[in-house]
Amino acid sequence: MSDMTALAELTQAADLLTQAKSICILTGAGISAESGIPTFRDKQTGLWENYRAEDLASIDAFERNPQMVWSWYQWRRNLVKDKQPNPAHHALFKLQQWAETEHKTLALITQNVDDLHEQAGSKVTHLHGHLWRNKCSGCDSPYTEPVDYSQDSLLHCPHCEGLIRPDIVWFGEMLPQQEWRYAEHAVNDCDVFISIGTSSLVYPAAGLLQVAKQQGAAIIEVNLNPTQNPLVDVELAGKAGEILPKLVDAL
Ligand code: NAD
Ligand code: ZN
Repeated sequence: MSDMTALAELTQAADLLTQAKSICILTGAGISAESGIPTFRDKQTGLWENYRAEDLASIDAFERNPQMVWSWYQWRRNLVKDKQPNPAHHALFKLQQWAETEHKTLALITQNVDDLHEQAGSKVTHLHGHLWRNKCSGCDSPYTEPVDYSQDSLLHCPHCEGLIRPDIVWFGEMLPQQEWRYAEHAVNDCDVFISIGTSSLVYPAAGLLQVAKQQGAAIIEVNLNPTQNPLVDVELAGKAGEILPKLVDAL
């Protein structure tokens, strides 16, 4: 994409945001990539280089081999624990503040399980759970004891002895009801929908873009490798950490 086109698209996106009354934003693993958190499409490193993330983040994998899945999450937690929000997260916080001053509704929804949006000050709804929370795989109650990330031994539920697992939505599991309802409502209400750093392959979250389009919203995509989705109206190709600060400055 040439700089001229990039500028034209940026202006177009800024105009859409200025005119909108209600904005809905969906972020994915790509927004945290510049903070040093690998996406699912990046090849894994070290101990886990022969495994695919998709094969570990599943209920089947946990049932087959809970120790392996728990160890993988402990490893991921160590990988993520010192990571910080990047300019993309900070720009979205600014956008949230801007929307508030302009009396617009803005819903920020993420598929990420990290807490970088929160660290940047944003209010955010997590569709796929939280890396730093745990729950019982048997009775579903939250596990609130502190967890030592430096060791891998499996933990047991104080109520039912069930195995403790991360409070994350795995492949093959339902999304949390309240969060999903919030997302559906936000998408049905919005004039502009922005998809950032998501491959739009993981359903049902990927379906939100379609619903937004069907009910008349304009669709903006921010992606390093555009998804080529024909529903996108304004394509902002590039790194989220470079594009989003420019977009917010253009408002
Ligand atoms: P994905 O890995 O399927 O896709 C990432 C997308 O981000 C790709 O389209 C890629 O082109 C784009 N991208 C990469 N770097 C970018 C950058 N700097 N700027 C803009 N775009 C960039 O991610 P997904 O769509 O979120 O779906 C995968 C699932 O993996 C989600 O359910 C999520 O819960 C989980 N996951 C979460 C994290 C996290 O919490 N940080 C990390 C890995 C995976
Ligand atoms: Zn239990």
